[in-house]
Amino acid sequence: MTVLDRMPADNLASRITDGPTGYSGVDGDEEWAAEIRRLADLRGATLLAHNYQLPAIQDVADHVGDSLALSRIAAEVPEDTIVFCGVHFMAETAKILSPDKTVLIPDQRAGCSLADSITADDLRAWKAEHPGAVVVSYVNTTAAVKAETDICCTSSNAVDVVESIPADREVLFCPDQFLGAHVRRVTGRENIHVWAGECHVHAGINGDELADQARNHPEAELFVHPECGCATSALYLAGEGSFPEDRVRILSTGGMLEAARDTGARQVLVATEVGMLYQLRRAAPQVDFQAVNDRASCKFMKMITAAALLRCLVEGKDEVDVDPETARLARASVQRMIEIGQPGGGE
Ligand code: SF4
Repeated sequence: MTVLDRMPADNLASRITDGPTGYSGVDGDEEWAAEIRRLADLRGATLLAHNYQLPAIQDVADHVGDSLALSRIAAEVPEDTIVFCGVHFMAETAKILSPDKTVLIPDQRAGCSLADSITADDLRAWKAEHPGAVVVSYVNTTAAVKAETDICCTSSNAVDVVESIPADREVLFCPDQFLGAHVRRVTGRENIHVWAGECHVHAGINGDELADQARNHPEAELFVHPECGCATSALYLAGEGSFPEDRVRILSTGGMLEAARDTGARQVLVATEVGMLYQLRRAAPQVDFQAVNDRASCKFMKMITAAALLRCLVEGKDEVDVDPETARLARASVQRMIEIGQPGGGE
């Protein structure tokens, strides 16, 4: 008997429709949540949800967090099936760290404009122009790019990773130009070449916008999440002085939630994908959390809908696979990062 056979006759799954922006037709209500939990148990699956997922997805998941933290949880939990509610490179990272487990993503079309800004072919060609250079890649990259990488990094440890490389070695840093510029500024290193990639979601956060926000909200603090590719432009601009330094807090997701509970500020501006606001408001309802850029919503993250997750558990799709040699090489670049220091959580 398949999982589908055990579904109620008038089942929710019959309402799922597919379209260019993803699966829809099902509400993330209590009936749906109960069905999701039932199907997850039947499959022996753990549900992981990234911080920028829709509230209903976060609420039904076993664990919510950053991509790297979730990938490490995926490797540790006893379940053999991991359902990764996030974008594709994140599910790939979980597969890289758990090669013997089945990793499912509710919609494999959920990509990432930052990860897609460099391919493995692009990177091979770039390396050929700079023989002997050390390649440092942000975790928001595909498995194939990680396999061509010497050391991965997150925004939390990008400076440490680059500083661990002998000063006379050239560095190729990809794919995020804002994080690369931040690292170049902090390390003072001139032999670092930065790939011109960016996340489309937050390319709109600019210095004028941040300075305006500082003027219009004179009492507010600014929380910037460094492990988020989409917040690296804000990280760069905050470092440039677009927002008064004493009111800027660069925080991991966990740190952001702690700071939300402890802050004396009545208002906090948040420079990251808007999905994070859901957790912050829940953690500290007395604080007025506002997005620096309320257009900063990732359409790829939001493709993981209630309907997509239901379809995933009913059909056992979409499975994420990484060929073993690519996974081995990619895993080595992640391991080197972990050996250098505190990696934080990834995006
Ligand atoms: S917010 Fe930007 S970096 Fe994050 S998954 Fe979406 S496109 Fe990629």
